[in-house]
Amino acid sequence: MHVFGLVGNPVGHSLSPPMHERAYDALGMDARYVTFEPDPASLERAITGARALGIVGLNVTIPFKRDVLSIVEPDPLAARIGAVNTIDLSTNTGYNTDAVGAVRALRSHGVGLSGTAVVVGAGGAGRAIAFGLADAGMTVRIANRTVERAHELAAEVPDASGHGLNSLAELLADADVLVNATSVGMDEDTSPVPVAALHSDLAVLDAVYTPIETRLLRAANEAGATTVDGGWMLLYQGAAAFEQWTDHDAPIDAMNDALRAQL
Ligand code: NAP
Repeated sequence: MHVFGLVGNPVGHSLSPPMHERAYDALGMDARYVTFEPDPASLERAITGARALGIVGLNVTIPFKRDVLSIVEPDPLAARIGAVNTIDLSTNTGYNTDAVGAVRALRSHGVGLSGTAVVVGAGGAGRAIAFGLADAGMTVRIANRTVERAHELAAEVPDASGHGLNSLAELLADADVLVNATSVGMDEDTSPVPVAALHSDLAVLDAVYTPIETRLLRAANEAGATTVDGGWMLLYQGAAAFEQWTDHDAPIDAMNDALRAQL
């Protein structure tokens, strides 16, 4: 039997185990996906021990996404983003599949990734998404509550600019894609973007997936925009991890069914 897992703290409410285990069932794989909550001081020993036990791959979540950079060898994209969410223990390589997760979520909804994207947020998700969209060919405008973080990230991402949240209306006027990569809207009915700034030429991805329909997505729908909920990003980051570990195409529909049953 192959064992995969998730390392974080806490991981009790993770949606990943049923999503991955449905993929194993769909492909007839003898495999399990297990969650682990190591003490931060034990993280390196936990990962070394997982490798010694023959665990194939680990996802990594809060608060360890940066900490594992010093434990595994990040691939070039994970090194640029500065965070790892997927480890291939057979090679000791760390990947960041949040970037490709956002890109594939948008593409799966027919969104062409040319033109200009506004990424709201410059934390972990914002960093991954900004690099992902820039690498896909978009010009990225980063807006963040703490404007210095937006400027710092923009200096690292090719062809990007950094801004405060008070510029959002101006930034969005001629934009093609908007991504909320802040935690605003998570478990509360709030939006980081003024309703009047939304328009029908936008595709809007909200990384937040609790609730699955955020205030931002409701307002974007009403404005006639294309909307993509955070469940799609979660699905495709998981699918990319699955593909990295197994060399099989991920059974997207089965994984999505398992995920949607929980959202
Ligand atoms: P993080 O590193 O803590 O970053 C949080 C971001 O939100 C920062 O840009 C922060 O701005 C901003 N922010 C927080 N409170 C705010 C407020 N009241 N007003 C304006 N901005 C505020 O968190 P993260 O890991 O990037 O996660 C962000 C969200 O993305 C979470 O909801 C998470 O669940 C979601 N996420 C989803 C996926 C997926 O697959 N769908 C993957 C990863 C993350 P400052 O810099 O000013 O503090």
